[in-house]
Amino acid sequence: MTNPEYDVIVVGGGPAGSTAATLVAQAGRSVLQLERRPEPAFKVGESLIPATYDTLERLGLIDQLRASHFPKKYSVQFFSGNGKASSPFYFSETDPSERSQTWQVLRSEFDALMLANAERHGACVRQGAAVKEVLLDGDRALGVRADLGDGEIREIRSRVVMDATGQRAMLARKLGLVRHDENLRMAAIFTHYEGGLRDPGIDEGATLIIQTEGNKAWFWYIPMPEDRVSVGLVGPIDHVIKGRGGDPQATFDAEIQHCPGLLPRLENARQAIDVKVLNDFSYLTERAAGDGWVLVGDAFGFLDPMYSSGILLAFRSAEMAAEATIAALAADDPSAERLGAFEPRLREGMASFRQLVYAFYTPGFNFARFLRRHPEHRLAIVDILVGDVFDRDFGPLFGDLRGFITGRAVTDPPEVGADGATKTGAGATA
Ligand SMILES: Cc1cc2nc3c(=O)[nH]c(=O)nc-3n(C[C@H](O)[C@H](O)[C@H](O)COP(=O)(O)OP(=O)(O)OC[C@H]3O[C@@H](n4cnc5c(N)ncnc54)[C@H](O)[C@@H]3O)c2cc1C
Repeated sequence: MTNPEYDVIVVGGGPAGSTAATLVAQAGRSVLQLERRPEPAFKVGESLIPATYDTLERLGLIDQLRASHFPKKYSVQFFSGNGKASSPFYFSETDPSERSQTWQVLRSEFDALMLANAERHGACVRQGAAVKEVLLDGDRALGVRADLGDGEIREIRSRVVMDATGQRAMLARKLGLVRHDENLRMAAIFTHYEGGLRDPGIDEGATLIIQTEGNKAWFWYIPMPEDRVSVGLVGPIDHVIKGRGGDPQATFDAEIQHCPGLLPRLENARQAIDVKVLNDFSYLTERAAGDGWVLVGDAFGFLDPMYSSGILLAFRSAEMAAEATIAALAADDPSAERLGAFEPRLREGMASFRQLVYAFYTPGFNFARFLRRHPEHRLAIVDILVGDVFDRDFGPLFGDLRGFITGRAVTDPPEVGADGATKTGAGATA
């Protein structure tokens, strides 16, 4: 067997891949990061939550974000199907420092900034470089087979392969490890508008979560740089994709008409780009690591767009996996046990978000009613919305939430679907 050319190959140039590549390179290890797109392009996942601050600071990116044109986000606010607003959840309720604000980002720019940062920290970053497959010897990863942009397919060896391919989840799908969450078979239709109404002052950059009439679906409303706003519809696949003859633009327009909390905000706005569609994006993989490989970000799992937890979880999983990888390389033992040592902690943090997601989708549930009954849990909910979910005990909150929630308990993993189709994964048509 040829000797590994790199300590680590990171497949994917999204937030998870760039975080992992930066940290491993910073530790003095040789890293090759491969991203199939020649340039970062439009992507969904535009709203950060405050706990991303720690990672951005660790990566040395805070000053660039401060100087950017990305709107600042201080809160999230929920609207019920009849248009009634909750009071905003300000992140500063639990922490008055700068850490309690965050940003709404254009992903093309944000991903570019992160890739450049990985390169600056010593990773060899190749864009327009598509990995065709991870080379496996049984369950052990040996490297990748990739087209680096010149049409020639090469084998490149490494001691560890980090899969950061997002919803493509290249390795997990190949190994049959993807498990969909049967409680969350959702789809999304989304676009950008120009001229959407914004609230004044500190609320200008807030994320709004707005339910449609009858609470069958909900919209996100995320202020973007300049005059843009990102608007996305999320709901069960049957309702969003199959419900109105399968025309996404027609469905989107019709749902806006049935959303009194959103309609006035778009009265004088103009749709700026074609709608895009994603479906069946909520899943977890059975395990995060094997011998010589580890999964990070969406390639490990994705929960739901509801609380904008995706990039935070991409960051945290990449940080945990990078630390495990650095330790495994130092011990000359890139085994599944070492590379996946962080997995229980990651799953536990994700489970806290999941409990709030299940609550939101429970018919009849709303935060205002829950908090009227249990005002003592407000700060714990803000902590989860901030993303402060790791190494925390939310037992009292979840105990009381359970009375309001249908679906599984917090620690239950998603089940394997009864038919093989449930393993096939995200059908991105965007
Ligand atoms: C509808 C919806 C709304 C969302 N809204 C939010 C939100 O508001 N806030 C939030 O935080 N998160 C949100 N998310 C989630 C967020 O988009 C993801 O969690 C986040 O992008 C994960 O980062 P990642 O690096 O794991 O994957 P990605 O950002 O998807 O990056 C993966 C990269 O790998 C590359 N790649 C794939 N295959 C290959 C290959 N074979 N070779 C080389 N490169 C490859 C891709 O081109 C891509 O650039 C949303 C998700 C959905 C579905």
